[in-house]
Amino acid sequence: MENVSILGATGSIGTSTLDVISLHPERFKVFAVSGFSQLERLREIALQFSPRYIVVANESDAAGLKSKLPSVLPCEILFGKQALVDIAKDSEVDTVMSAIVGAAGLLPTLAAVRASKKVLLANKESLVMSGELFMRAVSEHKATLIPIDSEHNAIFQCLPENYRYADAQGSGISHLLLTASGGPFRELMPQALEDVTPEQACAHPNWDMGRKISVDSASMMNKGLEFIEAKWLFGLDETRIKVLIHPQSTIHSMVQYKDGSVIAQMGNPDMRTPIAHALSYPTRIESGVAPLDFFEQQDFSFQAPEQARFPNLFLAMEASRLGQSATTALNAANESAVAAFLRKQIKFTDIFSVNQHVVESCNHESLNSIDDILEHDSQCREQALQYISTLRH
Ligand code: NAD
Ligand code: MG
Repeated sequence: MENVSILGATGSIGTSTLDVISLHPERFKVFAVSGFSQLERLREIALQFSPRYIVVANESDAAGLKSKLPSVLPCEILFGKQALVDIAKDSEVDTVMSAIVGAAGLLPTLAAVRASKKVLLANKESLVMSGELFMRAVSEHKATLIPIDSEHNAIFQCLPENYRYADAQGSGISHLLLTASGGPFRELMPQALEDVTPEQACAHPNWDMGRKISVDSASMMNKGLEFIEAKWLFGLDETRIKVLIHPQSTIHSMVQYKDGSVIAQMGNPDMRTPIAHALSYPTRIESGVAPLDFFEQQDFSFQAPEQARFPNLFLAMEASRLGQSATTALNAANESAVAAFLRKQIKFTDIFSVNQHVVESCNHESLNSIDDILEHDSQCREQALQYISTLRH
């Protein structure tokens, strides 16, 4: 029996993870879950999976949840940031699903890595913020890191069995081909992007996701973050990673080899596939996802992303080339800008202005520790908020 801690169990990835686990009660036990504010959902999870620990944001939520649970349930309710770290590194835990959204996921995910766990990484922001230090910790602590992001999980599946980190030459890899759906605004005139609403931005054509990543998909910042994520996960430089728009989201990404072969991973767009793959790797288990029906499939098409429509993608690629302090700055700015857009304080197109302003004006000194990164992250958030206050409509 494998003990699994799920960080961010109430979200979209958390829910899909619980769905897959519920199909395999003989193999996986939900050891601990966390949720930030959705107490009713946590109550349902507690009743269905009976985890040993539930982590909530604060003491009053802990008391609120406790009063809603039957007293016979053998489940301890903890709260706060240290409790997230504790359920990630607990000696009884085998596998940690990292599915908190944003920078809040960094410390508990790193704690799981430092405790040499099998870490299933959905929280791409932690790699964007700290890629080099994070990957060094993975190697020093011999953690097993398996990507959940569908593109990176696809690439992981398409790489040679014995792929050695950063060895593109030896592995015969020419390029990683990251596919992108193009989101809900792929065909909108760039001028019309000024007036789109949070509801339109969150209505993704192919995937059902949390609100922050949905806005990132609409702006294609998500693909920018994934570009940086791919660089760190697979140890390849920017020249070996290409982005192509594939609106059907059937090919989840590809690896192009120097002999002319291209290996793709395909399936219906449903996160339960990469989650099941990662949970059971290197074996395969049922995920609950319907098989891909090639006869019902629309044609596959591909386009290059345009800079005028998706400036955030190009900014992220530039930040990747600039290095760690630029990508930390970009992530901090983007989280602040997306939150302001979702609160209807700024326009969709302002997200790019905020991101560009912070990346261009922040200090690009080297960041040598996680404390340096967190300090830089909070300075950049302040800068972003100041700039946002000049934009309010
Ligand atoms: P979501 O908004 O649906 O869920 C986020 C989870 O994080 C929730 O459980 C929430 O309670 C928790 N959370 C939010 N703020 C927190 C905080 N400050 N402290 C502690 N917990 C907090 O998001 P999601 O769509 O499930 O995405 C989760 C992560 O997975 C993101 O990093 C996202 O980029 C990545 N991801 C998601 C998808 C997808 O299909 N949803 C695909 C690829 C990658
Ligand atoms: Mg993705």
